[in-house]
Amino acid sequence: MRRGNLFVISGPSGAGKGTLVARLVQAVPDAWVSVSATTRAPRKGEIDGVHYQFKTPEQFQQLIDTDGLLEWAEYSSNRYGTPRASVAEHMAAGQQVILEIDVQGAFQIREKVPEAHLIFIEPPSMEVLEARLRGRGTETEEVIEQRLSAAKVELSRKMEYDIQLVNDDLDEACAALVSYVNEQAEKTRG
Ligand code: 5GP
Repeated sequence: MRRGNLFVISGPSGAGKGTLVARLVQAVPDAWVSVSATTRAPRKGEIDGVHYQFKTPEQFQQLIDTDGLLEWAEYSSNRYGTPRASVAEHMAAGQQVILEIDVQGAFQIREKVPEAHLIFIEPPSMEVLEARLRGRGTETEEVIEQRLSAAKVELSRKMEYDIQLVNDDLDEACAALVSYVNEQAEKTRG
């Protein structure tokens, strides 16, 4: 069994990563999306173990202390991390493992797994990003402001990724993402 590939997908909050990743797993049968641990409170409709593994700060610290995370970062006053064991298992099983993580986490992955493929999802403009964040209606004004300022930092690092995809037209962005993942995966598929 050939080991699967590791794909990292980053981009500002509101760029549409979640929708693209959901479509990607529909289109690529051997893709598997890692479920991150976080100290953030669940949003309405989010299910523990499905969208995230929701942790108390103490539980999260324990994961760090026991080397249970492949990477972790603080984002908007909360901690987020990728559980190490499940990523290793799914890669060993030959699956295409997808991490939807922030830029700090992405560069930790590049250090630890240099063959990982780093994909950056861009919004068409800051105006569109702001409109999408507000339209979502799930965050307070303070959180929206924090996320917009995080977006500027994230966008400043986009050229360090292996590929940049602008999420203007969802179908087109999705097709480009699926073809990039398949192209890279094809090199190691049996
Ligand atoms: P949200 O709170 O909107 O779900 O996620 C906030 C940010 O944290 C997003 O950029 C998301 O990609 C990132 N994120 C989610 N899980 C992880 C993770 O396991 N590690 C890191 N470094 N970032 C994560």
